[in-house]
Amino acid sequence: LSVVVPAYNEEAVLEQFHARLSALFDSLPGYRCEMVFVNDGSRDRTQALIDQLCTADARVGGINLSRNFGKEIAMTAGFDHVRGDVVAVIDADLQDPPELIRDMLREWENGYDVIYAKRTRRDGESWLKKVTAAAFYRVMNAVSGRVRIPPDTGDFRLMSRRALDALLQLREQHRFMKGLFAWVGFKTRAIEYRRDARAAGVSKFGFWKLWNFALEGITSF
Ligand code: UDP
Ligand code: MG
Repeated sequence: LSVVVPAYNEEAVLEQFHARLSALFDSLPGYRCEMVFVNDGSRDRTQALIDQLCTADARVGGINLSRNFGKEIAMTAGFDHVRGDVVAVIDADLQDPPELIRDMLREWENGYDVIYAKRTRRDGESWLKKVTAAAFYRVMNAVSGRVRIPPDTGDFRLMSRRALDALLQLREQHRFMKGLFAWVGFKTRAIEYRRDARAAGVSKFGFWKLWNFALEGITSF
């Protein structure tokens, strides 16, 4: 099991995140596990903390990007380097509960290739963000033809090696990952969960970044 963790200025949560994911790894005796942090050009102590975790824990790896490329490219760098037969991607801020990966693994063992986490509730997010996100996914699905992008779904998911290898054949630089994840197909299922508020630190997606993300999705995907 490989877990990819994009991290941009996440010094406030990284150690707490590592403790939670390590506890999950310890509870999966049948699996050999690795967590790979991708430092997306952070300006805080994120890289220093990743170095420390790498030294202290043989299951931790790190990729250090030369500048801030954005989450889509950070995730891709992680996917390019992991070795697992099954691969998850999760946010560093503990809004995505690491323990859900155990349920995702069960579905993978049952034969599913892609298991994504669907939010039933989103704590700590503004009314405006929820409304604009819902509108964006309506527009996105109206223009994206046969490929259906599930609503209320972030990047948090688990993929089989064959689904990941298919995804990695798509090498565009303007990467709308939620579209690409859906585009490759495969036997897919959703697991519902309650999205927590951030454990610490602040959101890296302000209005301007989200606007650009939406434009990128519609124009490039
Ligand atoms: N992130 C990243 N590069 C960026 C922005 C964010 O790698 O340019 C990471 C961030 O560190 C976190 C994840 O992407 O692990 C989601 O970011 P955030 O929690 O700020 O987004 P939100 O949950 O508020 O939408
Ligand atoms: Mg977050």
